[in-house]
Amino acid sequence: MTLRTDGIVIREQTTGEQDRLVTILTRENGVIKGFVNGGRNPKNRNVSSTGLLCYSDFTIEKTKKDVYVIKEATAKEVFFSLRDNITSLSLAQYFAEISGELSPREENAAEYLSLLLNSIYLLTNKKKDARLIKSVTELRLCAISGYMPNLVSCHECGRFESETMYFSLETGMLFCESCKSSEKLLKLGPGIISAMRHICFSAPEKVFSFSLSADGIAALSDLTERYLRKVTLRNYKTLDFYKTMTDI
Ligand SMILES: [Zn+2]
Repeated sequence: MTLRTDGIVIREQTTGEQDRLVTILTRENGVIKGFVNGGRNPKNRNVSSTGLLCYSDFTIEKTKKDVYVIKEATAKEVFFSLRDNITSLSLAQYFAEISGELSPREENAAEYLSLLLNSIYLLTNKKKDARLIKSVTELRLCAISGYMPNLVSCHECGRFESETMYFSLETGMLFCESCKSSEKLLKLGPGIISAMRHICFSAPEKVFSFSLSADGIAALSDLTERYLRKVTLRNYKTLDFYKTMTDI
């Protein structure tokens, strides 16, 4: 079976003497692991277009043993400017890692691919705060992969607005001042609640279009990161590395 799709390389590993194994988030078939035969030979024409964080058009063969082999790859975008900035590059690698964790296998992943491409693109053009891009990527990824927190209203009384709301990382539920229980809850101001609602409920093309104070962005970034770690039950080395580059 031959699959033709665009996608972005989210992980690369060497295997054997000559070959590389790449993990690609594809539009048509979700996350795929495929071999690039001779992919460690710099003369191989598919080397640059199958590098980490390359967005390319791929022709992929699925063998009878269900092994994917990358036959052809033509680069569409290599995010060259990202490679000059180790902080942005490490954050992009974290986005790639969490996309690999939460994107589907063997099914269409167009929304996941767009989210990852947009977040990396926004990192490269530096017009938005990197932590805001990080929060959107984390929370939107959770929301579209089946881990959307319940942000509509207070879980107990249905109240939509309250000066301060309380969020449970355990259950993804919101509570108002009067209904908050004794469990460990995070106190959230109205700016953060609106930002979280925007990230979860807006149309894909508008998901990054909002602003928040610097303090709000820092709090949101901490919250979305903890929520993602909670739902995926793991830590991310790429995030730890990013944090060694920054003081957030
Ligand atoms: Zn309530």
